[in-house]
Amino acid sequence: MIEFPPFSLASLVLTELVLTFFIVLRYLLLAGFFYWALWKRPAEKVHARRLAKNEPSKKIMRHEIYWSVVSSFIYAASGVWVIEAWRSGGTQIYFDVSEYGVIYLLLSLPIYMFLHDTYFYWTHRAMHHPKIFPVMHKVHHESRQPTPWAGFSFHPTEAVVGALILPVLVYTIPIHVGVLIVMLVVMTVTGITNHAGYELFPDSWMRGFVGRHWISATHHNVHHLKYKTNYALYFRFWDRVMDTDEMDVPSDAARTDTV
Ligand SMILES: [Zn+2]
Ligand SMILES: [Zn+2]
Repeated sequence: MIEFPPFSLASLVLTELVLTFFIVLRYLLLAGFFYWALWKRPAEKVHARRLAKNEPSKKIMRHEIYWSVVSSFIYAASGVWVIEAWRSGGTQIYFDVSEYGVIYLLLSLPIYMFLHDTYFYWTHRAMHHPKIFPVMHKVHHESRQPTPWAGFSFHPTEAVVGALILPVLVYTIPIHVGVLIVMLVVMTVTGITNHAGYELFPDSWMRGFVGRHWISATHHNVHHLKYKTNYALYFRFWDRVMDTDEMDVPSDAARTDTV
């Protein structure tokens, strides 16, 4: 049963502001790093396959940064909810590995990721409904050729939907605090790299196990170009099951295009 945290407005506001600051900082550092590494260095130094045809415009990058910063306030609110709920003992977050054992510790990450992926796939598909799309999801799709800055470029209504899942999961499914941190790192890094405009995985990986099952920038780029396929977040599972999966696996011949 959900226990509501004790209410102290000052501490909630302070936590919200501190978390927002660190979420924005994390976003700027990480997205800034990938933007510099992929788009600002000489082409011969970039060992990644370029996906975007054109150089990103300043206008689209400003759009992506603006909405990512706005979304950070919402992600921080979700963090405040989790922290306050944990302080009042209402969550399933635990600190002692022996409480559930090492096997559960290792399984809990894929369990969390699969549930997050499932939630994302279906809410994302719903947001492509013609009546919902203009209100909630158009902001994200303004990036036809996304850049690393697009990682959290969502309309606030979409950010709220996206931010709800983690508090719900920590209320219901036990998770070690370390696994929760790993989960947050995976969410942040994949959010940015899947929009990088470059494929970071080597082509041999893309043709192998990783590319067949894990969502990459190549896979998500198709979604930004075509809208009708590739809705999932981490795994190609739901797209395959629902017949919405589409990706050209890079052939050896394509390697000549590598920059
Ligand atoms: Zn996207
Ligand atoms: Zn979409």
